[in-house]
Amino acid sequence: MAKLYIKTQKLNWLTFYLLSEIKYLKKKNFTMRIYCKKCKEEIVKLPLTEEQKLDIYVLRQNNSVLSLEKKLIDDFNLNSDEARAIISHLNKRRDCCVVCEAETLNGEFTECPDCGAFNYNLEEPVFNIEFCSHLEWSLDFDRVEHEDIEYYVQSFWCDGIMHVPEDPESLLYKNLEKHKQIITKAWIGNGGENIYEMKIKFGKKSLNHYKNRKSLIDCIPKANEQEKWITLDVNRRRIEVQLK
Ligand SMILES: [Zn+2]
Ligand SMILES: [Zn+2]
Repeated sequence: MAKLYIKTQKLNWLTFYLLSEIKYLKKKNFTMRIYCKKCKEEIVKLPLTEEQKLDIYVLRQNNSVLSLEKKLIDDFNLNSDEARAIISHLNKRRDCCVVCEAETLNGEFTECPDCGAFNYNLEEPVFNIEFCSHLEWSLDFDRVEHEDIEYYVQSFWCDGIMHVPEDPESLLYKNLEKHKQIITKAWIGNGGENIYEMKIKFGKKSLNHYKNRKSLIDCIPKANEQEKWITLDVNRRRIEVQLK
């Protein structure tokens, strides 16, 4: 009986050892490390799917550092030092170095030519902060369609458009292709102070640009180019814009 017990124990230990070895090898196999010349740390380079990139992008844009750390630890089997090292090399603005802020980065997982720091520099959706600020400045309330005659909307202006929508998944091309719109928030009013639900509808050109990761800025209709591309509902605090 005792012999059998020892045998089982041995077998348990062996299984445990083999499993941890497999886990270690699996981790080693999937992780490459890159040396950062600036801080002399080794940073894990993660193989990321489109969905994972988007999740990381959204958490980074929202400055949710703790959730980001938890996600990296849980999803990629990292320890907290490895997760923190990634976060400190995850630049928030595309092509802008996380250390020296020079806008000289080129491509993903790259070294800053100015200071030598390693940057994740992940590709971001073309629906981004740059596009949203262009759209914000293009909203001409003189030419807007609206039915609420009691409002004098000509003096309205837009004080910001949220570049991370309520449903971040709507930023994935497969979802945009299906729904052809992104719904976000915009600040609009005489002082740009009211929160509006903004529906951004995609036309043929903008869908094509999105698919090919080309900037959406020239898909914003210019003055006199397209009639009625902005519809405003002041009572329900909703705005709709139609891209080209
Ligand atoms: Zn570094
Ligand atoms: Zn730099």
